[in-house]
Amino acid sequence: NRPAQLQRAFVQTGHGDGRQTIRVMQWNVLAQALGEGMDSFVQCPMDALNWAERKYLILQEILTYRPDIICLQEVDHYFDMFQPILASLGYQSSFCPKPWSPCLDVENNNGPDGCALFFNHKRFQSLNTTHLRLSAMMLKTNQIAIIAALRCQATGRAFCITVTHLKARSGWEVLRSAQGSDLLRNLRNVAHRIKTEEKAETDIPLIVCGDFNAEPSEDVYRNFATSSLGLDSAYKRLSTDGKTEPPYTTWKIRPSGESCHTLDYVWYSHRAFDVKAVLDFPTAEQIGPNRLPSYNYPSDHLSLVCDFSFKDPTLVS
Ligand code: NDP
Ligand code: CA
Repeated sequence: NRPAQLQRAFVQTGHGDGRQTIRVMQWNVLAQALGEGMDSFVQCPMDALNWAERKYLILQEILTYRPDIICLQEVDHYFDMFQPILASLGYQSSFCPKPWSPCLDVENNNGPDGCALFFNHKRFQSLNTTHLRLSAMMLKTNQIAIIAALRCQATGRAFCITVTHLKARSGWEVLRSAQGSDLLRNLRNVAHRIKTEEKAETDIPLIVCGDFNAEPSEDVYRNFATSSLGLDSAYKRLSTDGKTEPPYTTWKIRPSGESCHTLDYVWYSHRAFDVKAVLDFPTAEQIGPNRLPSYNYPSDHLSLVCDFSFKDPTLVS
């Protein structure tokens, strides 16, 4: 007798035909070990966090929208759940564990958490996959990213998709900013390498999905918004002025109180892609007074889902 799934609708943000859109999901799914062991979601009943049931809510969320590309953080059940099930549904995938995952400090953990990337293997050919350990001030950190170069079979066009999860918590803004700069530097290098290999005339388009653990006011956000890579944030398209990020992507109640923040983003090369549609967020009423996670929703972060299409290459400067 579980409550129904949160109802969310796609908001159309672009015109033109809907053919060959690429649907991308960004989602911090909440590591099972962290949810049960460390996170202290004080208003969430423990049995709403029971893996045997929660895993179906996670799969339901993914399969409701059937993304072509799925970018996940805090995956600590890759080998025993995500990989086998999504492989049977036609997804090829890659998993990059965190070097010192906090999950390992939890009793009865299921291994380290990390980022995972899945793509529809009928629609895309994999050209290259890079696992990155992000550096800050020349030092290796505990945060990672996956950069995959894919070729869209229908259009023949190559692009890079990235998933990352930056350092959490306040007080770490400078580290996050350095990690973001390291990721941007690596993206430039990988994109350049693929461009050369592909003998492409224009730059390789990018999509970067992440739990940046940073509000739009932080340096790391500003560095992404103003980088020479020409990235824009897809979810700004939900706002009436087209320039404002949503009011929240995560909403939970910890012992310290309510925590409602915009931390998750889908960046894309605005010269190469149009955003056709974005999945709206549930309202505060839908989320409910106890916030997330809950019996209706398995993570403290909401999923972000966007439909992209390649711009006409003859019109791209
Ligand atoms: P982060 O600070 O980036 O956070 C790790 C996880 O904790 C994230 O998934 C984050 O979720 C979640 N989190 C954020 N805020 C809170 C909170 N207030 N309460 C509970 N959980 C929260 O961690 P690091 O990757 O830097 O790793 C730090 C931890 O890893 C250490 O505390 C230690 O346990 C372990 N570690 C162990 C080492 C070893 O030698 N064994 C070495 C290094 C680390 P979200 O992103 O959703 O906010
Ligand atoms: Ca978390």
